Amino acid sequence: MRKMSPESLMMSYGFKPSLSEGAIKPPIFQTSTFVFEKAEEGKAFFEQAYGLREKEDGEEPGLIYSRLNNPDLEILENRLCLWDQAEEAAVFESGMGAITTVLLQFLKPGDLIVHSNPIYGGTDHFVKHMLPTFGINVLGFDPHQTREEIHQMIKDSGYADRLKMIYVETPANPTNDLIDLEMCSAIAKEFSIDEKVLVAVDNTYMGPLWQHPLKHGADLVLYSATKYIGGHSDVIAGACLGSKELIAQVKGMRTFLGNMAGPWTGWLLLRSLETLKVRMEQQARNAKSVYDSIVNHPKVKTIHYLGAIEAGTREKEIFDKQYKSAGAMLSIILEGGEEEAFKFLNNLKLIKLAVSLGSTESLAQHPASMTHAGVDPHDRSKYGITDNLVRLSVGVEDAQDLIWDIEQALES
Ligand SMILES: *Cc1c(COP(=O)(O)O)cnc(C)c1O
Repeated sequence: MRKMSPESLMMSYGFKPSLSEGAIKPPIFQTSTFVFEKAEEGKAFFEQAYGLREKEDGEEPGLIYSRLNNPDLEILENRLCLWDQAEEAAVFESGMGAITTVLLQFLKPGDLIVHSNPIYGGTDHFVKHMLPTFGINVLGFDPHQTREEIHQMIKDSGYADRLKMIYVETPANPTNDLIDLEMCSAIAKEFSIDEKVLVAVDNTYMGPLWQHPLKHGADLVLYSATKYIGGHSDVIAGACLGSKELIAQVKGMRTFLGNMAGPWTGWLLLRSLETLKVRMEQQARNAKSVYDSIVNHPKVKTIHYLGAIEAGTREKEIFDKQYKSAGAMLSIILEGGEEEAFKFLNNLKLIKLAVSLGSTESLAQHPASMTHAGVDPHDRSKYGITDNLVRLSVGVEDAQDLIWDIEQALES
């Protein structure tokens, strides 16, 4: 049998129509619990779910209760593994649910987490303000820092022997800064003495199509499935991917935090995954057209776009080895400040003024006062989240309509 590409498998993989009256699509298994044929079967399912015995060859996990598993979610988890070539996946009711569950599972009081900067506003708050209340030590590094500098910083922290995780977001939101994942995994290896230091990567911006962190040494990949994976601005969801062993631990914590996705969320994402590649490719093409048309506009100072990284730089080197596309996110630095940025946003006619990204419709927002309003003002200016920055997530509309809209808003 030919080995099929993910986009070919996305319509059918992991679903047996014969188990659902021949339906070509999985029904929504809107059920909280599952009937056991016999008490012995229930016992066997629980033994397996709680790891009380070894799994028999080819034994599928038995369906017990929808906080533990559900057919829609199992099919979704199987399909999500295809793009990243992961062994296992766990889905959540939100991206933050996936991120916080991973952090709470693998970090204990006294441990050290090292993270890249800048990171998503919600993650930034949880890591910098909530983890320390659990006695976890937090250390951030900047995109331009070298391997030697980060290594030294970890040593100087005094907690090097308690380093448990390197947490990375690349490209960084909203600045499109790149971080070398192979460098992070090399640093993690250097500090893996008694226990493996895990590398976790939030791949929301470029995944699951254009960056595959597991191939560059990451242990865990995280998604806000609300963004490209969901792709229609109508569902909140998250996912975590990795090895069987790690995802079993993540699912253990998910069972007790109770933040797994519901069957309806699972079904919506299955539908979204079928068109993921065509959507993302169109979005990337549109982003390039928009960039090319407005980059020289007199009211535009510069645009952070992965398709515009200069040759010969370290960034370009990282881009070439880590990314398959320049993506569909543009951070436009306008001439002026907040007033000019707001004027631009208020004058857009087709593009919607809203946070979030990766959707079929183009979305524009002002990170400094919106998604990153909670970030320390000192950090905001340090990482270039300035008052004249507008973040644009390019959708699947006609590129010429988008360009018209941006140009008329710039003129006003
Ligand atoms: C949106 C987002 C999140 C949070 O995901 P939710 O689904 O909103 O909980 C995390 N990381 C990045 C990069 C995001 O864009």
